[in-house]
Amino acid sequence: MPTTPPCARRLDRAATRALDRLAEAAEVLVPVECAVCRAPGTALCRPCRLLLRRSCTRPFEASSAAPLLDPPLPVTAAGRYAHELAGCLLAFKNAGRTDLTPVLAACLATALRSAAPSWPPGPVLLVPVPTAPSALRRRWFDPVRVLLEDCARRGVLPAGTTVDRHLRHRGATGLRPGPAQKRLGRAGRRTRPAGSLRATAPAGARCVVVDDVLTTGATLAEAARALRAGGAEVVGAVVLAAVRPPAVPLTADSLPARPEAGEYPL
Ligand SMILES: [Zn+2]
Repeated sequence: MPTTPPCARRLDRAATRALDRLAEAAEVLVPVECAVCRAPGTALCRPCRLLLRRSCTRPFEASSAAPLLDPPLPVTAAGRYAHELAGCLLAFKNAGRTDLTPVLAACLATALRSAAPSWPPGPVLLVPVPTAPSALRRRWFDPVRVLLEDCARRGVLPAGTTVDRHLRHRGATGLRPGPAQKRLGRAGRRTRPAGSLRATAPAGARCVVVDDVLTTGATLAEAARALRAGGAEVVGAVVLAAVRPPAVPLTADSLPARPEAGEYPL
């Protein structure tokens, strides 16, 4: 058995120390903190992680809280857009906290597996709603697609499903893209024009639309319209978070003007 020369061991120890110092320096330059409570040293501290998991253990049917989802479409939400789930989602999307991908993907996978028994048997395409081109330039990644692809890598998608990017913003073809949903305001969400998305799913394909947050349902309605226009069948939708549980239905005129306690801005 060959032995490591003393000089090699010294080099190895030096390299380890150097890596440790680099890690410490990186921690100083870019301090890691809990995305929810800002506890230092971790992407999501144990208490917040447990609360997040608890908030997503019972996915629920959320379409009744989406007044613009017309025609109706079954929508399963992993949890309510509040507290730990909203905090993590905002940090993930707007602060580039991609270190939260595994925990959010786990929540989405729970919702997908909860909804899957209601879908018709056979192959189903999971189609993420794409980020608007302007938001994509700002945040350099497509949040829903990243979460779905993480689920696929970990093998936690429902059996018979595959992730396919069959939706595109028309901005990509030179037409004017619609403004980001969260900047539209209540009036804009009511009047978001149809036609902002185009679909490339094959005719006859069974599709489930996947999005991050369900507000009025206008985005899911537009996604379903685009897919159906190309001949695909839309059998449902799954979202990571819904602004209201089904026990508190919303109308288009009753969206809150400001977040309530425990809620986050959209
Ligand atoms: Zn925390």
